[in-house]
Amino acid sequence: MEALPEFELLRPITIAEAVAARRSHPAARLLGGGTDLVVNIRRGIEAPGQLIDLTAVAELGTIKANAEMLEIGAAARLAAIAADDGVLAHYPVLAEAAASIAGPTHREMGTLGGNLCLDTRCIYYNQSHWWRSANDHCLKTTGAICHVAPKSRGVCFATFSGDLAPALMVLGAEIDLVGPEGARRMPLEQLYIGHARHDGSSGDGKRYLALLPGEIVARVRAQAVPGLRSAYDKIRIRRSIEYPVAGVAVALRRAGGVLAELRVAFTGTNPRPVLLAGTETLCGGALDEPAFARLDALVRDQVMAMKTTFTPGHYRRRMAGVLARRLVMKLFAG
Ligand SMILES: Cc1cc2nc3c(=O)[nH]c(=O)nc-3n(C[C@H](O)[C@H](O)[C@H](O)COP(=O)(O)OP(=O)(O)OC[C@H]3O[C@@H](n4cnc5c(N)ncnc54)[C@H](O)[C@@H]3O)c2cc1C
Ligand code: SF4
Repeated sequence: MEALPEFELLRPITIAEAVAARRSHPAARLLGGGTDLVVNIRRGIEAPGQLIDLTAVAELGTIKANAEMLEIGAAARLAAIAADDGVLAHYPVLAEAAASIAGPTHREMGTLGGNLCLDTRCIYYNQSHWWRSANDHCLKTTGAICHVAPKSRGVCFATFSGDLAPALMVLGAEIDLVGPEGARRMPLEQLYIGHARHDGSSGDGKRYLALLPGEIVARVRAQAVPGLRSAYDKIRIRRSIEYPVAGVAVALRRAGGVLAELRVAFTGTNPRPVLLAGTETLCGGALDEPAFARLDALVRDQVMAMKTTFTPGHYRRRMAGVLARRLVMKLFAG
């Protein structure tokens, strides 16, 4: 299918109305800018009867960023985040990540919430209905096996590719959720449950978010950490408009010649954004070659790129490590 099917568009203007719309239409899908969801609908990947457009909810559109704190609503546009003076001055990793997403027109439409909840991607999934039918579909939709890993025993390895999640993770962001059962807050990394190597995650590339039925991402927030330096980099096939082959966010603190704190997060490699575990073992000393060797080892262990894109998995993992090294070096040098 390449023509849009019929659907009803609901446009709440308050959070309470959005939650009520979600409660009355449990099968509805939330709509941010539609730059990913509408493409999937056109491809016949999904056909929701109702879309709940969140972009008219004024409370969800705000951006507050200063030297103390960051708070951004889920309906804030990517272009506005990238251009916000407070974000640019105090949270450069976020401004850089937002500015690197898709192309300029997508950034005018795309939202924070849509980016954080972006569907996972795979070369066997992001295709027309006709193409997927010719391959008997796959686990992520109605098929019986995973074409990437036929012996995966029910696990889908589709890749999370949103650029904002790693940037916000290295800032220590939390996420506010609202839903029929009330509001809750949690560390952003807990939103993601896609399969990962070490933590016995309950999800995979098909079930990749910890949202409860009817829950909506309302906003993200973070406290500024004095002295934290941060930056984002990614490689992609077409630099002007493309999902990441690998994306890396780094935040670190330096105390004299010593690496005092290091946070590194990746996208485009696993069924979830990966906040690298074990970076504290690199801290407390000089940033020397043994420290970089340890960083490489952590990346090799936790970044698990599969053949879900046209770029081979081993190349994406290698590039994730190279980008991380470069950013750490650059930020440490100041
Ligand atoms: C050519 C092209 C290139 C792209 N390149 C990139 C790239 O480099 N990096 C990148 O990150 N993305 C990329 N994208 C994907 C997309 O444009 C962005 O991720 C964008 O930020 C998605 O936001 P949106 O508001 O348009 O999401 P939508 O398409 O509106 O929604 C995406 C998903 O999020 C859900 N959702 C939306 N808001 C909420 C909410 N508040 N709470 C819970 N769920 C919600 C929707 O139901 C849907 O499942 C690209 C897309 C295209 C077409
Ligand atoms: S990783 Fe496997 S199950 Fe998941 S979308 Fe790709 S082919 Fe389908």
